[in-house]
Amino acid sequence: MTEKLERLNRLPLRSNLRGLSPYGAPQLDVPILLNVNENTHGVPADVQAAIAEAVTAAASGLNRYPDREFTELRTELAAYLGHGLTPDHIWAANGSNEVLQQILQAFGGPGRSALGFPPTYSMYPLLASGTDTAYLKGQRTDDYGLSAQSAARQVRELKPNIVFLCSPNNPTGTGLGLDVVEAVYEAGEANQAIVIVDEAYHEFAHDGTPSALTLLPGRERLIVSRTMSKAFALAGARLGYMAAAPEVTDALRLVRLPYHLSAVTQATALAALAHREALMADVEDIKRQRDRIVEGLLKLGLKPAASDSNYVFFGGLDNPHEVWQGLLDAGVLIRDVGIPGHLRVTAGTESETTAFLASLESILAGAARLPA
Ligand code: PMP
Repeated sequence: MTEKLERLNRLPLRSNLRGLSPYGAPQLDVPILLNVNENTHGVPADVQAAIAEAVTAAASGLNRYPDREFTELRTELAAYLGHGLTPDHIWAANGSNEVLQQILQAFGGPGRSALGFPPTYSMYPLLASGTDTAYLKGQRTDDYGLSAQSAARQVRELKPNIVFLCSPNNPTGTGLGLDVVEAVYEAGEANQAIVIVDEAYHEFAHDGTPSALTLLPGRERLIVSRTMSKAFALAGARLGYMAAAPEVTDALRLVRLPYHLSAVTQATALAALAHREALMADVEDIKRQRDRIVEGLLKLGLKPAASDSNYVFFGGLDNPHEVWQGLLDAGVLIRDVGIPGHLRVTAGTESETTAFLASLESILAGAARLPA
């Protein structure tokens, strides 16, 4: 045990935090960062200028607490989402991680459980443990699929209080059919389960992919979470949000800290929302790069999963860790998600994507020349 860990363990920590390490992908100083599904295209110059102007204006009022209800931001987020949503349906926090944490604070807790379907977003079990909610691991098929029938059966058997459905799923990148959401919602009726559809990457889905937002009317236990960290290129600003029945937003008001969304955050998010056309143009290019990665990986004989997100999960590797290290040595950081034979890569700019594919090709060619 390291001295640091020993010192930590001498503290009267809650028992379920003992022995844990903080979550987080490595933040390395590498030229090409394709490891945490950020928007690689950056904030366009005119959006940067608009944000700077909005933040300057907000600075003059920073002696006052911000609008606790962030009414203007909820109005603009509702307008962005459409589907007849109003500000009463919208809630936001510092990243969708915080939104998810607030949902667990309100609807989870000791004696309650949350069900996820691994491999899925690795924060779900951590958010559950942080709120003393039991985390139940559901089953997928061998190729990481999840059918409506199987998901509903597991909900009926395990009777969770909360269900996480990630669509497109992280790390696999593949979307879930709305039939799965409908079936899970219905199966959760007996236990009054809250169903969260995490659509952090929805904007990158292929054209015509329906959102679970279409299922909200009449389903007061359904929550659709989104983020400005990905399509809006604002991971550094920390703004996540969700749409649900107005009574769900009232439940989250019971657990949020007062003034949790700073005036600077609200001004930044509003400025970005006002410039969404420029940002969505970059989303289109990211989708093209994502599709290039899928095609390139297939040409290399690898097995990319179908992706509706800004990243690609791929298998067919004999030695994923060596490939990961080889890419890092070439200045390209991608993600080893700990699944045998697989790695995950975020779509880069055109030149970053080219560099990734070229480096991977030469690493695989080199590996093939080595004696087995
Ligand atoms: N959901 C999923 C599926 C994610 O991959 C992420 C971030 N990687 C988040 C939620 C949280 O993002 P943020 O807190 O930046 O909104």
